[in-house]
Amino acid sequence: MMPAFDVIIGLEVHVELNTASKLFCSCSTQFGADPNTETCPVCLGMPGVLPVLNRTAIALAVRAALALDCQVHTISKFDRKQYFYPDLPKAYQISQFDQPLAEHGALTMTEDGAARRIRIRRIHVEEDAGKLNHLGERLGDASGSLVDLNRAGVPLIEIVSEPDLRSADQARLYLTELKTILSYLDISDLRMEEGSMRCDANVSLRPAGYTGDVEDLPRSEIKNVNSFRNVQRGIEYEIERQSNLLRQGGRIVRETRGFDDASGRTYSQRSKEEAHDYRYFPEPDLPPLVLAETWIDQQKRALPVLPDAIRQMLRAQGIPAREAEVLVQDRAAFGYWQEATSLVADARLVTNWMLSDVARLINAAGQGFASSAVPPARLAELLKLLLAGTISGRMAKEILEKMFETGERAPDLVQSLGLSQITDQSAIAAVVREVLQGNPGVVQDYLGGKSKALAFLVGQVMKRTRGQAKPELANAVLKEILEAEYGATTP
Ligand code: ADP
Ligand code: MG
Ligand code: ZN
Repeated sequence: MMPAFDVIIGLEVHVELNTASKLFCSCSTQFGADPNTETCPVCLGMPGVLPVLNRTAIALAVRAALALDCQVHTISKFDRKQYFYPDLPKAYQISQFDQPLAEHGALTMTEDGAARRIRIRRIHVEEDAGKLNHLGERLGDASGSLVDLNRAGVPLIEIVSEPDLRSADQARLYLTELKTILSYLDISDLRMEEGSMRCDANVSLRPAGYTGDVEDLPRSEIKNVNSFRNVQRGIEYEIERQSNLLRQGGRIVRETRGFDDASGRTYSQRSKEEAHDYRYFPEPDLPPLVLAETWIDQQKRALPVLPDAIRQMLRAQGIPAREAEVLVQDRAAFGYWQEATSLVADARLVTNWMLSDVARLINAAGQGFASSAVPPARLAELLKLLLAGTISGRMAKEILEKMFETGERAPDLVQSLGLSQITDQSAIAAVVREVLQGNPGVVQDYLGGKSKALAFLVGQVMKRTRGQAKPELANAVLKEILEAEYGATTP
């Protein structure tokens, strides 16, 4: 039976901005420092201190907003969001409530070849909280908790989607596309495992025939899931749980749920607080944030080429969609590709080598395209030798492996390994004559019309030259000599 409801999903994504200092003080934001060493009276929430807004953080946030097609407001403001938790020393977070930095954006993703536009409701700027380290396996049986405030005050943007996503797969696609776009902006490390990108997923079911406001549907908010895969799993579980509940005549309540990696289940944490629970009010220590139109335009002009434009460019160069996607999603791979193709014009050849042999060797060595032992210029040298016919494809593979092993360059390895192709006609002719003399039976077969015998003879020439004869040349010379000296007739 078809389920009698639609799945409704909206995502809230937090992204830490990679500024050198925090949002309202000059403390370092470096990840991994000793606990509480990157703190000062401002981010510790001491009385009497005043926040000073980090200009770079705003520039980075605006860049994200523009890349996501948002309208950036010339006037926005900061608000205090009050709640009590040990990781929040001021007992309020400076965030943006009713006048966020940017609104009304969108992101286009591709699902099964079809473009799907997901609206972005708003992007606002806020400060991060500190981090609690629980002493024990789980919070429930921890013997205590330690507070590290290095992260308190690190600048964040929150990117809130409209409830436009209809499946767990779509949620994952959205996150992938969002991360890909942001990766080209240089605004964040985007490391989910280090918490520099975090996602909350809101999930509800809309019964068929429901005509009310989607916002009014009871939903669960799955908090702080640590990977795209787990966002997907958590949503899948939630869809299952909520539909079972509805089928059994139960009621869904608005609540915050956690996700348990081991079991793949979500569990109730608390009933969801409403905006009024936070007693938002305008931050009295910060003036409204006023941005000049001209400055916003400048930021827009300074945006890099974004994934959609890159996809189009790659398609125009004849790169198939799947390969193009691999290049676009790994920004370092695309950078590598750009450099290599600036040196070797054959874009498809570069792509094929990058995504097969180079990728394999990079993975085996635990490297990435940015840290590859064979940088793009060196790959280009190899591919030039291949294109010139100096080496065969098989030799190129062998040389590439040696390049990874030794760090040597392709032209040097061709020399030292004696791997160049024999492209000298007379040298090949000598070998061909030897092969013909050594295989009179096969020659008879060929002369008798068995054209397949030629392939065997080519194989023998290759074998005798240890693969160094250029196969096309071996073929041509064989035919020539068979005609001229054995009286074969061209088929
Ligand atoms: P909150 O403070 O409750 O987290 P936000 O405005 O920050 O509210 O985020 C609300 C999120 O919930 C948005 O991403 C929105 O798309 C999503 N959302 C709204 N209605 C639904 C719904 N019925 N089902 C799932 N998600 C929803
Ligand atoms: Mg929220
Ligand atoms: Zn500080």
